[in-house]
Amino acid sequence: MFDCHMHTSFSTDGLMDAEEACEAALKLGLEGIAFTDHLDHDYPGPESFLIDFDKYFRQMSSISKKYADKLKILTGVEVGIQPHVIYESSDVISSYPFDYVLASVHIIDRMDPYRGEFYKGKTKLEAYSRYLEEIYYMVCNLKSFDMVGHFEYITRYADYADMTLRYADHTDLFDMIFKKLIEHGRGFELNTGTFSKSPAVADYDIEVLKRYRDLGGELICLGSDAHRTEHIAARFHYFLQLIQEAGFRYLVHFENRKPVFHKI
Ligand SMILES: [Zn+2]
Ligand SMILES: [Zn+2]
Repeated sequence: MFDCHMHTSFSTDGLMDAEEACEAALKLGLEGIAFTDHLDHDYPGPESFLIDFDKYFRQMSSISKKYADKLKILTGVEVGIQPHVIYESSDVISSYPFDYVLASVHIIDRMDPYRGEFYKGKTKLEAYSRYLEEIYYMVCNLKSFDMVGHFEYITRYADYADMTLRYADHTDLFDMIFKKLIEHGRGFELNTGTFSKSPAVADYDIEVLKRYRDLGGELICLGSDAHRTEHIAARFHYFLQLIQEAGFRYLVHFENRKPVFHKI
């Protein structure tokens, strides 16, 4: 299996270096990993989520060589999209030889749900719909990316009685997003890290996967979103079963921006 989403110390919030991540992945028996450090242009707040990509690629290239016969190492990026940063984000995406571009929404209306204020005065339906609207905007307007990151991000910091993001509550938005993804041969990740907190805050609604598949979607990958070694491949076996139960027969990872399918 591949863990297609993790952060090293190149990310402002990353707590492991790339080599520690590789060692941990080897111990877990993974076949490969994709580093997806953060690029968030115009992040509202004191932190900066920008990367020196020349340095990043130098390090990734040397570490890939070091582990060449043991672990496939893919150099990706998690690009955080807000409507007004699409142009400069696209510029970076086209300027470097990424294996994988994971496109995520971290900021909605200049607020990161991480800080909680985004949810204030909003019902769960309103908050989650607004998040999915921003993802829809992203999938329609960002021209070059491979997969959508963590639909589940919006559930992580919410404080509702039932935090699960359900297909049935947002059928139109999910369908619009899925149709657009499928039209361009794209898919989305299942972000297992979101569900590995104890106690778990939300469940994963299998209907999300089933609907994407019913509409013809085929590209699903697993990503832990690990920022430290203990979280790599978190709950992969559970979610692999769930993906199979939803009818998928393959998982993907990306190399040179092309999907590589693995039978499951
Ligand atoms: Zn993210
Ligand atoms: Zn991430």
